[in-house]
Amino acid sequence: MKNTKQTPSAPNFVPLMITRRCNLHCLHCSASQEQFLRKDMTTNELLSTIDELAAYKVFRIALTGGEPLIHPDFFVLANAVTKHPMRLQINTNATLVTSKVVDNLKQLRRPPFISVSLDGITAETYNRIRGQGSFIHMKRGIKRLTAAGLNVRPFVVLSRLNYQELPQIIEFANSLGVRQVTLSTPAACGRAIRYEKEMSLEPDLHRKILETVLAIDSSNPTLLDGPWLDLARLYHTMKEGKLQERKTSGMSNNCNGAWTKAAIASDGTVAPCDMAFTCRAGNVRDTSFIKIWRDSPVFIAIRKARGMPLSQVHGCENCSWHYICFGPCPAGNYSRTSIWPSSSPGCKVRATCNLVCNGTNRLIKEIIS
Ligand code: SF4
Ligand code: SF4
Repeated sequence: MKNTKQTPSAPNFVPLMITRRCNLHCLHCSASQEQFLRKDMTTNELLSTIDELAAYKVFRIALTGGEPLIHPDFFVLANAVTKHPMRLQINTNATLVTSKVVDNLKQLRRPPFISVSLDGITAETYNRIRGQGSFIHMKRGIKRLTAAGLNVRPFVVLSRLNYQELPQIIEFANSLGVRQVTLSTPAACGRAIRYEKEMSLEPDLHRKILETVLAIDSSNPTLLDGPWLDLARLYHTMKEGKLQERKTSGMSNNCNGAWTKAAIASDGTVAPCDMAFTCRAGNVRDTSFIKIWRDSPVFIAIRKARGMPLSQVHGCENCSWHYICFGPCPAGNYSRTSIWPSSSPGCKVRATCNLVCNGTNRLIKEIIS
């Protein structure tokens, strides 16, 4: 199979999972032990991978896990990223952030961007999602990071389990002086598949979250980002009857996986996204990353599917919302279908649109044409 002419020479962004180990056991974790086929890479293998990504001018690397701060050579790896002209992101639960960790972070050549999971503002909710005793350590860790002036962005996976604490989470984030909070939806991958029901939302709860997000967004329009903000703005536009403003080509091009992004798992597996490590394109222990990026049949097939009409996308065929939609996040359904792209039965774009109106695809095409 030949690669396409337009293929970017390398991804802009690579989440690099440096360990599968974690000190917590979160319900919505996108990783699960079963998905890893081999042992974790050694520090030397990770360093070679970082050097290769730098050689191909990858712009940003996220060190992820598991919990990346659990890795005994975390700062060797973080320093290796910052010695290159690349941005460093760290995805952490913050529970292992000591004063020493903060000092080491401040000594990196360039300040990292730190994404901290913040899934509740009471010990009861947070510990239920992330495990007993974790809340107090997270709170102390995030306070240490922000007090040191590090660039922290709270990352909230909003679901039935924690939606009622969103205003207090935002209050806490404001008190720390953070500039942005990401509101994410849970994806059915990894361990989260087992807890899908616990995190699901019936229409009334879905609407409640959208309205809470809209209220926060209208009082502070630069604070939020992430999928819940996109959904809330879509809901608002629809309620205002301004469908025309949302007109799309009706093609699937929402996902950057294998296009400007690729992820590397701790066992060396290369995938289009860190939410989809079971979509295996190759392994950096066997083949160079750049060869996988350019020539892997899995990546070539994903690129070919970019721009596919939504009427042909698995799970989207009979949906009414093709002409205001950019297509699904394929990770949410890949583990069930092994089809990329495909939409899940619980698609939140469709659920949001259906809250406002039950149109037909033909009717909606007419309204916005
Ligand atoms: S099912 Fe979801 S992703 Fe697919 S067209 Fe409908 S709204 Fe878009
Ligand atoms: S699979 Fe989903 S989360 Fe991953 S890059 Fe694509 S749209 Fe984003």
